[in-house]
Amino acid sequence: MQKCKYIFITGGVVSSLGKGISCASLGYLLKARGLKISIMKLDPYLNVDPGTMSPFQHGEVYVTDDGAETDLDLGHYERFLDQNMSRDNNATAGQVYHHVLKQEREGIFLGSTIQVIPHITDEIKKRIRMVNRENDLDVVIVEIGGTVGDIEGLPFLEAIRQFGLDEGRSNTLYVHLTLVPFISGVDELKTKPTQHSVMRLREIGIQPDILLCRSDRTLPVPVKDKIALFCNVPPEAVIEAIDVPTIYEVPLLFARQKFDKIVADHFGFNGKEADLDTWGKLIKRFKSISQEITIAICGKYVSLPDAYKSIMEAFVHAGIENDVKVKLKWVNTEEIVPGTEKNHLDDVSGILVPGGFGERGIEGKLNTVKYARNNNIPFLGICLGLQCAVIEFARNVVGWEEAHSAEFEPETPYPVIDIMEEQKHITQKGGTMRLGAYDCKLIKETKSYEAYGSELISERHRHRFEVNNKFRKQLEESGIIISGISPDGSLIEMLELPEHPWFVCCQFHPELKSRATRAHPLFREFVKASLMFSKILKKVGQ
Ligand code: GLN
Repeated sequence: MQKCKYIFITGGVVSSLGKGISCASLGYLLKARGLKISIMKLDPYLNVDPGTMSPFQHGEVYVTDDGAETDLDLGHYERFLDQNMSRDNNATAGQVYHHVLKQEREGIFLGSTIQVIPHITDEIKKRIRMVNRENDLDVVIVEIGGTVGDIEGLPFLEAIRQFGLDEGRSNTLYVHLTLVPFISGVDELKTKPTQHSVMRLREIGIQPDILLCRSDRTLPVPVKDKIALFCNVPPEAVIEAIDVPTIYEVPLLFARQKFDKIVADHFGFNGKEADLDTWGKLIKRFKSISQEITIAICGKYVSLPDAYKSIMEAFVHAGIENDVKVKLKWVNTEEIVPGTEKNHLDDVSGILVPGGFGERGIEGKLNTVKYARNNNIPFLGICLGLQCAVIEFARNVVGWEEAHSAEFEPETPYPVIDIMEEQKHITQKGGTMRLGAYDCKLIKETKSYEAYGSELISERHRHRFEVNNKFRKQLEESGIIISGISPDGSLIEMLELPEHPWFVCCQFHPELKSRATRAHPLFREFVKASLMFSKILKKVGQ
């Protein structure tokens, strides 16, 4: 087997240019060439992981099978590659410093002065190599978070500069994603920001091999030539990353410009070309969709949809499999006060209450669940969404008016949702919830079982509270069907309402396992039920 190759992707000028999607797309193309690949994200912030950051600051926390709380870009990697990431695929500056300082206290470096170079840079390089710990990968793609010029990012850039020297330039490749803005007054695409960004990189000692140029329109040949000349790359290595209708089209956009071929040639991979048949069909199907439904996401982080990134993508996948475009309506549950439900929700064909923490917006979520339950609107409750469904049912069907979650009302006489036994003595925050993949047994003849078509599933969790077994019997007697339980029977993982056309809730996060070419069964069935509901609504309206 050949030596593993490393591709580093940095970003310049501004953030949010789509580095994660670019890494995932290049990864997909290399995988489609038959190569074994993985992708890693290096995050320059000082938190040990994003688990303790507000979704408003950082967007979604993506949880891997092995229970790591990671950056949302890992979600893109999994969705594009159809391959599980792990704890090794994300490292933050916080983790790196934490580890080095712990070693210092243990006396590992006795006598030395601990410095950014070499101690921090060595630890970064070690973590990059750890992605290939099984020694079975052809390529590791490394995404460097942030933008060139950020103070926090400097040790990472220094580490990847050294990496090129350690491994040899024929085994490493540097890709820089930059912005080429169109200035309307002069009707011109401007290359100067790119020139400056590459200049910053070269000051650090990194000469990019390939430039990905994000722009809202195609780059004319003279613009490409100018960028090539000023940035010291061959013209064919100036690749445009223009805006496309769906992120899933980016691999095809890159393939048309031979991005993967340039990479393969650099590394001397002389295998087959990328097989893009499946992906091409996916995009074709996506583009042929002619019907649309609206589904409401009722939560509290709705002003920043990145907080629900995987949910948004899961709806794209489920939409493709049902040949329908799912338009999402973001509803802030703080605004759903009794009597206003209809104003917010009468134009939607499905309602989703997602995961979340903290009390703000809870009463609105309960009103939303009640509205979905009473009006037969397809409903999917995820994590906190399941917990709200149980509270609402306990209050309005069983009749326990004061029912609540102990997370929000510790003194309630009916703590239908309570802290998990194993969580009771945990005081440290960060990485201490019930995290990662757990098995779940499904009960036959339920909608949950029908969706998955199998008795044993594995899904990812991130929570501290759960349905209180003390109230299980009464909830069941009043009509809740427990459709999924932990294999030892102790935890309620899924439930549904049999009288309702489609009301399914799960304690785990199914959105984390939906893939571009394989929609998640629960999202697929939820969208199917919502599509059916929209057709019934239309008929009634006629
Ligand atoms: N706050 C709830 C808990 O900790 C729900 C968590 C979630 O929705 N991810 O159990």
